[in-house]
Amino acid sequence: MATPRTAPLNPTSIRRRLFRWYGKTGRDLPWRAGQGEKSDPYRVWLSEIMLQQTTVATVKTYFEDFVARWPTVADLAGADLDSVLHAWQGLGYYARARNLHKCARLVAGDQGGRFPQTEEELKKLPGIGDYTAAAIAAIAFGKKATPVDANIERVTARLFAVSEPLPGGRRRISELARSLTPASKPRGRPGDFAQAMMDLGAMVCTPRTPNCQACPLVTDCRAAGLRQAERYPVKAPKKARPVRHGMVFWAVRPDGRVLLRQRPEKGLLGGMMEIPSTDWREKAWTPGEAVAEAPFAADWKPLDGVVRHTFTHFHLELMVLAGRVGAGAGGGDGRGEWCLPSRFSEHALPTLMKKVARHAAGALAE
Ligand code: SF4
Repeated sequence: MATPRTAPLNPTSIRRRLFRWYGKTGRDLPWRAGQGEKSDPYRVWLSEIMLQQTTVATVKTYFEDFVARWPTVADLAGADLDSVLHAWQGLGYYARARNLHKCARLVAGDQGGRFPQTEEELKKLPGIGDYTAAAIAAIAFGKKATPVDANIERVTARLFAVSEPLPGGRRRISELARSLTPASKPRGRPGDFAQAMMDLGAMVCTPRTPNCQACPLVTDCRAAGLRQAERYPVKAPKKARPVRHGMVFWAVRPDGRVLLRQRPEKGLLGGMMEIPSTDWREKAWTPGEAVAEAPFAADWKPLDGVVRHTFTHFHLELMVLAGRVGAGAGGGDGRGEWCLPSRFSEHALPTLMKKVARHAAGALAE
């Protein structure tokens, strides 16, 4: 039977072994400074915003594309919002892209091109919450700060065998991660510490099959001592995601153009182009009810099938109503634009709407 480890963990020896491992094995990521190089706050900030809700593998390509097009925060501030949203397509959660652009303009303008260095000041900028502020302060500026992402959360929960389930246990895990964080530069290396913990979580202390044999912290780790690594972090049972329903209006003009419309700036997919739709609600729409919400009167016909998409908090099912409209049909409420489906790629159309376009493609075409 495994023997639980109860002696207090020694942060100094944990850091020493972690840094040795990180120096040999850490990931080579395009936003990271190399050995002896200074971190570029612009690259750190950009990568951290992209990494919110998105995997490292996906972010790499987008990051390289962004820094090639906009190498500095001033370049990004000078770009128009639509081209930023367009370059962001596929990363999802578009409010991040709008905040990214707003933040670049503030930093390039009011802040003279320099990012603030403390967590408190960073949090005043759009799109920067507690985690991102801590990550930038530690990685870009060497401040003592403890960003706790999913990797750091998992490693810490296992090291200390935190039994309180998530999400309630997050506060305790953050305190414990803070207790391991080294002092600000030049005395300590809090940025490297955060990145080393992230790498350990991504490469060794993985969610399903942690490789404790290869872990530099195995002699300290309480979960490994209990032979129960996979049990941590303990999670509260998940609630089922609700299903919401909407109806989309595929309006086709005689010249084959289809109506697109900009969504309101605030809310889900804010500022993105959409094929006009009703609200997304829990009760399914009947075609009769939906027609009352259409951008204009037409002989709307339901298409067979459903378009399904999953957001973080709900599943969405959309049905499509297709209708022919005259050459003089307006643009809905002034936020609309008529566009050939073959040219949809020129617009910042979210993945969901691309699915709708594929589903409706050819409906009512001459
Ligand atoms: Fe994770 Fe195992 Fe290392 Fe503990 S010993 S931190 S469970 S990989």
